[in-house]
Amino acid sequence: MSNTSKKIAVFPGSFDPITLGHVDIINRALPLFDTIIIAIGSNAAKNHMWSLEQRKATIESLFENNDAIKVATYQGLTASFCKNQGAQFILRGLRNSTDFEYEQTIAQANDKVNGIDSVFIISSPEYGFISSSIVRDIARNGGDYSKLVP
Ligand code: ADP
Repeated sequence: MSNTSKKIAVFPGSFDPITLGHVDIINRALPLFDTIIIAIGSNAAKNHMWSLEQRKATIESLFENNDAIKVATYQGLTASFCKNQGAQFILRGLRNSTDFEYEQTIAQANDKVNGIDSVFIISSPEYGFISSSIVRDIARNGGDYSKLVP
């Protein structure tokens, strides 16, 4: 298969930290794409709990045996990063209608402005309540979040 016909998706996020919800979306998207690039956005305006290096190393070690998965960091627009990588798709997870409302306008803008389609996978019921921000809250208060992360 030539490179141009390869189906490449970017899965963008903060992954602060990566959770079982993210892993579920990635595993279920694998049959759809030749390559999934897990792209950790570095946003200086956001206050992170885990450093970019820590987040990248954790994700790399999780998927080190899977050649279809790559891990990268990026700054700026997700759509620009996609073009840069030759990716035709953005992968996102949907937990509820709040996620949907937020994603809808971004996806429509990315399609119109950049010609990049978004592909959504609805979270599995057992992971739909998990968010990185809940994990951070638990971590900040010294709780046990081990059941929420890989
Ligand atoms: P962002 O800061 O861009 O929201 P996140 O790291 O929080 O980044 O999330 C990245 C993607 O993973 C988003 O599409 C988000 O909706 C999805 N996601 C996060 N948690 C879950 C979950 N528990 N189940 C399914 N999708 C999820």
